[in-house]
Amino acid sequence: MSQIAENLEFIRQRIAAAAERNGRSAKEVKLVAVSKTYPPEIIREAVEAAQQCFGENRVQDALPKIDALPPDLEWHLIGHLQTNKVRKVIGRFALFHGVDNTALALQMNRIAGEFGVTASILLEVNVSGEESKFGFTPNALPAALEELFPLPHLRIEGLMTMAPYSENPDCARPVFEGLRKLRDALSAASGHPLKELSMGMSGDFEQGIEEGATIVRIGSAIFGTRAAVTH
Ligand SMILES: *Cc1c(COP(=O)(O)O)cnc(C)c1O
Repeated sequence: MSQIAENLEFIRQRIAAAAERNGRSAKEVKLVAVSKTYPPEIIREAVEAAQQCFGENRVQDALPKIDALPPDLEWHLIGHLQTNKVRKVIGRFALFHGVDNTALALQMNRIAGEFGVTASILLEVNVSGEESKFGFTPNALPAALEELFPLPHLRIEGLMTMAPYSENPDCARPVFEGLRKLRDALSAASGHPLKELSMGMSGDFEQGIEEGATIVRIGSAIFGTRAAVTH
């Protein structure tokens, strides 16, 4: 078995165990294998180990990889997206995790309409209030959702967050719990399910799942530590 296949197997077991602790089955948690910085040959090893869903965070890196790999894979754009790149990405990704402002969402709706498709998105929320982080503030979400829900070419599937970096993964727990509670409140108030919660990375995905994550984004624990620049 390749190292990547072995890592994937171990991650799947840990996902299943965490889901069980949260009263769910492994099937209810989607694993996005974050392949940023890794070339198609490496990604192919994960495909051979039955991984179908991959996450990339830079448009210019992602598109050539998508073109180089089998067409039946599912690609998620997990990083910040600039409004001027929307035209390049609509129709190329199954889910956009990092939609962090209404101008971007409006542009996505406009271009998706032009292309005759619907874009599935998650709204990124800055739960922790860290200044360096992208995302809607929790207070801004009700008004943003009211504006975005009626848009015909966007499907708002849920919320995404990143916990502040910490050596101790339990520090992420209040952030994840905060996102879930925010979702519950927004969902109750709006009548829209906002089913997906994308929260948890290599260092804290078990905490994410225990707090209700339906999607985890895991890179280094599958592919190995990236070179110094992790963008
Ligand atoms: C890089 C990245 C990840 C994966 O990080 P790892 O710690 O390598 O698992 C998850 N989410 C986002 C938004 C990222 O940019």
